[in-house]
Amino acid sequence: MAQSSDTKDVDDLCLCGRGKLHDGFTELRIRVDETLLVIKNVPARVCHLCDEAYISPDTSRQIDDVMEKYRACRLVAKPIPAGEIDLMQTA
Ligand SMILES: [Zn+2]
Repeated sequence: MAQSSDTKDVDDLCLCGRGKLHDGFTELRIRVDETLLVIKNVPARVCHLCDEAYISPDTSRQIDDVMEKYRACRLVAKPIPAGEIDLMQTA
């Protein structure tokens, strides 16, 4: 019954080595051709130190699905203002 999970602590640790992961949400920014697609409210395990987000395979599949629908124009994204800066051209 009382089965101890040795992997639990490892799962809760961020790759940065010091951060702990907690359930939260993240925002994904994916470039689709010339369009930048922002997917918000993505459930993820988020590091409290470095804000690195880890997405589950299930959520990852869901994102793929959304991308596919978006590419096939079966999903309309809300337009948001965006800006782009080329670091190589700011000198
Ligand atoms: Zn971290």
